[in-house]
Parts: sequence; C-alpha cells; structure tokens
Amino acid sequence: MQLLTIMHPGRVEQPLQLYRIQLTSQKKNRPGPESDTRGKEQDETPLICSHCSSAITTDREAVTVNGQHEHAFFNPAGIAFEIRCFRRAPGCRIQGKPTTEFSWFQGYSWQFAHCNNCLLQLGWFFQSARQQKTFFGLMSSKVI
Ligand SMILES: [Zn+2]
Repeated sequence: MQLLTIMHPGRVEQPLQLYRIQLTSQKKNRPGPESDTRGKEQDETPLICSHCSSAITTDREAVTVNGQHEHAFFNPAGIAFEIRCFRRAPGCRIQGKPTTEFSWFQGYSWQFAHCNNCLLQLGWFFQSARQQKTFFGLMSSKVI
C-alpha cells in the first residue's frame, strides 16, 4: 500500500481498489501452501505406510510419552528402533496378545501394530491398564 501511495501520490483510491481485487483473485486461484489454512493442512497431512502408501495416521495425532514424541530403543536382539508416538493410528491393525515382556515403556503392555492394507509391521500398540492410556509407537522408517 505504501508503494502504491508513493507511485500514485495524487490518486490513492483507485490503485488501492485494484490492489484489493488482485489479492482476492489470487487467493481464489491459488489455495496452495501460501493460503491461510497452511498450518491446518500440515497437521492433517497423512503419514503413510512406507511399503504400500496407505494413510496410517496424521501429525495431528502426535503425542509425547514420558516427555518425548520420538524415542529410540533396542530390542532384545540388539536391533535399534526409532519410534514416534501417536494417540491414534486408524491405518493400523493391532495383532497378538498384550504382553509386558521387554516393554519399552514401564507399566505398558504392547502388541504388534501392522499396516491394515499390506500387513507390514509398522510398530507397536502400547496400553497401560493402570493409567488407562494407550498410544501407538510407530517406526520412523516405516511410517513416513
Ligand atoms: Zn502398508
């Protein structure tokens, strides 16, 4: 607006109107990443199965467990896993019986979490009966 005022010092009203119309039409034609809804769209971006690209969960479902969203663990075989924690993962099916054996989260039992579409293991489903809390720990390499 300042630029227009400087360029047209005697005719402020006309150029200002033009300026507004341009902005409006730009918004209509390009609802892309520059629009106002950017933050919202980012949250709803699906995180997908690395194998079959099915939607598994979204960033909006991200939660922290013990103060962290991302965790790194070793399984009993010495293999390292990086997992991210999510409240829900509608693209997962939970398999196996809950067990507390070797659980990475104290007080939580775990089950396997597989892709609902291609059945690849994506992580684990954790639940604490005492705290009445559940979450998914999904491997950063498998849910992308
Ligand atoms: Zn899959």
